[in-house]
Amino acid sequence: MPSSRREFVFGMGAVGAFTLFSSDLFSIDRTEPELILYNGNIWTVNLQQPRAQAVAISGGRFLAIGSNDEVLALAAGKAKKIDLGGKTVLPGFIDAHSHPAEAGLSHLRMVDCDLRSIADILTALRERASKTPPGEWVLGFKYDDTKTSEGRPLTRAELDAAVPGHPVYVQHRGGHTAWVNSQAIKLAKIDDHTPDPPGGKYDRDPATGHLTGHVRETGRETFDKIIPSNFTRDDHREGVRLISRMMTRTGITSVTDAMGTPEDLRAYQDAREAGQLRMRVYCHIYQAFMDQMLAAGVKTGLGDEWVKVGAQKMICDGSISERTARLSQPYIGRPDDFGILVTTEEDLYQQARKAHAAGWQLGTHANGDVGIDTTLRVYERLQKELPRKDARYRLEHCTVVNDSLIARIKALGAIPTPFSTYAYYHGEKMKEYGADRVNHMFALRSFIDAGIRPTQASDYPPGPFEPMMALQSEVTRTDAKGNVWGPQQKITLEEAIRVGTMHGAYASYEENLKGSIEPGKLADLVVLGRDVFKEDPYNIINIPIERTMVDGRWVWES
Ligand SMILES: [Zn+2]
Repeated sequence: MPSSRREFVFGMGAVGAFTLFSSDLFSIDRTEPELILYNGNIWTVNLQQPRAQAVAISGGRFLAIGSNDEVLALAAGKAKKIDLGGKTVLPGFIDAHSHPAEAGLSHLRMVDCDLRSIADILTALRERASKTPPGEWVLGFKYDDTKTSEGRPLTRAELDAAVPGHPVYVQHRGGHTAWVNSQAIKLAKIDDHTPDPPGGKYDRDPATGHLTGHVRETGRETFDKIIPSNFTRDDHREGVRLISRMMTRTGITSVTDAMGTPEDLRAYQDAREAGQLRMRVYCHIYQAFMDQMLAAGVKTGLGDEWVKVGAQKMICDGSISERTARLSQPYIGRPDDFGILVTTEEDLYQQARKAHAAGWQLGTHANGDVGIDTTLRVYERLQKELPRKDARYRLEHCTVVNDSLIARIKALGAIPTPFSTYAYYHGEKMKEYGADRVNHMFALRSFIDAGIRPTQASDYPPGPFEPMMALQSEVTRTDAKGNVWGPQQKITLEEAIRVGTMHGAYASYEENLKGSIEPGKLADLVVLGRDVFKEDPYNIINIPIERTMVDGRWVWES
């Protein structure tokens, strides 16, 4: 009921200033609604109006939010009305770190080996081979040696038997290792007597000395180099079309591409122009491509609410799922292994300074506590030398932390983007970090308590992107087998939803544009098949996604 009217004005370029009332009905003075969703259980993630029954939408934006009566009363002659039947509605999810363009291409050309038995994987490869001209490569990705029922890795002999007429290359989910067959080994011109390449390995059977077909790090690159990469501009666009379908059907409405190339940036624009881009993209640009960007005068924020240039991306240390993150204490069971620092601090500083000076946001891959410490030192130095207001330095992943790192992250106003699905999905790899350390990994509880704004992030392909899995993982810290990893970092469901929506918007300077269901914001939302707040927290992953809306239009309907 309209009570004391308090006004505040938001400066939102595309909509213009609008008025917000502190009554039950939150609305903007604009045109009549085109669409009304009513009879919903709406969680807005807007602290001033956390719950509502109905929303009115016009021009791709939320126009009004309130009770059924209030919002339905706005319906003019032509407004379409949809009864949500009491279903739960959340703002669309924001995946703040993943690799959609690259993943889309992989899905186009490679066999998805995320299967639960070696037998199933071999069947899928055989089937692909039957449709592939002889001699051409059969490629697989998302294979995970820890996830198949046989409890052992693929073998070269199995690949030879399943696909005798083609070279085969099956990449691990984490991307750093692969399995190949004999034809592939022949094409790579290596044999049992070839020495390992620097920084890599061709695994050999300890008894016979024969190559096993498992190749690691630069050993994998030997094969990467001989697999023809002949993607056309149209393939890149098609990859984006495909991945944007896949992601939006799980409730994602915005992503950050964490390692964009100029080709990726073009592909997102091509897909959008063709009407095939279903989600919004904030596209980081990898530092190797920055000279071109700087020469063209491009900087963070160029674009619009569909495709926008993100931060400069840099890499400090190694990976969590492949156990190469740079740590201050060694990996469990490997007393001499502290992981890898990929870039020296001085090189990182030089890369960062150039982009920072040109007005770019910075995002640095930093997983281990040493990697994070190094990256923070670079950011702190830049902030001293070239101070910038509201720089929102990003710590991509920011996995293993401690109290002093958290205090520095807070002081700098930096943004961590920790893996959201790893506690649930990659539990079996956590043993190598140890229970103590895992209590300081993907440290959402610590971040939130310190007043830091961490995001939801899948890193797909290495981690699954389904937001419902992210929520379950963050709330329970329990893997699929029931093992608990880092229970002291559990957060509440309400917090996890905020992390996956508002915090993602903040990380891309778009908190006034999206991340909550508020008048004037982009009409991006998801309709769940069951009420997530009433669901058993260990079953959130099974909640069906009924519909996803981006820009006021359904991009997914089950
Ligand atoms: Zn990544």
